[in-house]
Amino acid sequence: MLTIILNFSIFKSDCDGSSVKRFLLLFILLQAFWINTSIAQSTPKTVIAVSGDGIHKILIKNGFDPIKYYKEFVRLNKKNISRSNGLFIGKKYILPNEGSGTTSSSSADDKSIDFPLFGKKYAKVPIESNALKGAIYYLISGHGGPDPGAVAKRSGRTISEDEYAYDVTLRLARSLLAQGAEVYLIIQDKNDGIRDESILKVDYDEVNYPNQKIPRSQKLRLRQRTASVNKLFKQNGKAYQRLVVTHVDSRSQREKIDVFFYHHKNSKSGKRLATNLQKTFKQKYAKYQPNRKYTGTVESRSNLYVIRNTLPPVVYIELGNLKNTADQRRILNATNRDALAKWIAEGLTLDYSKSK
Ligand SMILES: [Zn+2]
Repeated sequence: MLTIILNFSIFKSDCDGSSVKRFLLLFILLQAFWINTSIAQSTPKTVIAVSGDGIHKILIKNGFDPIKYYKEFVRLNKKNISRSNGLFIGKKYILPNEGSGTTSSSSADDKSIDFPLFGKKYAKVPIESNALKGAIYYLISGHGGPDPGAVAKRSGRTISEDEYAYDVTLRLARSLLAQGAEVYLIIQDKNDGIRDESILKVDYDEVNYPNQKIPRSQKLRLRQRTASVNKLFKQNGKAYQRLVVTHVDSRSQREKIDVFFYHHKNSKSGKRLATNLQKTFKQKYAKYQPNRKYTGTVESRSNLYVIRNTLPPVVYIELGNLKNTADQRRILNATNRDALAKWIAEGLTLDYSKSK
């Protein structure tokens, strides 16, 4: 910037009156610009390391948050930092620019991620803990695309299984992300998001991860979601990986059912996952509905295509009977859907904590 101004100053002495005026205006503008930018990029402050100084200590002494500015300090002073990240006494160190700090992954404070699939109201996900750091979840909400799954009537309007399974799945995904997990939504609907209404409009535009049209044939549909999960599972190697499939059952109107769980008969990890979920639900019912016994079961059910053919340990959850009026209350109320999702997330967290 300075050189440009000097060049113009030389030019100024060769100009006639009118162009001098125009030039002066330009000069003032340029100078204002130069002052602004020079404030923003002022020459970096330096300090000399004394005995006992470390990166943390020197940052704190100079008024910097050591967690936020650690990385930037190391970047600026790479040449004068020992292999064990120590400083050398008597050496000059550059202090970071205010505002250049990055949030280190070790601090969960005021960190959030953006997940547009949750819709405007819920897209921002505040990270609450690291409890699920290292865990990877694949979430399949049942049916979707051309297949709405079970359908029923409620106050004269049609309700469908896939919309409710999807809403609970989104809420579950959000809870898992908030605890530091990595989450893949295998069924996605980019304009639905998390919905707080009780009647969720039936649509047919869900896609399969990453953005595949869902075929009409049931066989191809199940094969497609299975292939997506298995591909990701192989890519993610030895990490703790789990698949959660969510459905809403369809039975005779009179039959009331509690949330229950299926696993693959040969998968110990899948069975343990289902059992930890059941255990969490038992505790929640004992706490929130003490006069009603929870009877949700854990069973093996290996004749279901997705359970049989997917690679990660899987739990297949039935949230209730869509046709039963009492069960409808469980899934039509957004607060209840949210509680269901949170309880599932808690059960999954319990399982992950036991796997370590
Ligand atoms: Zn279903």
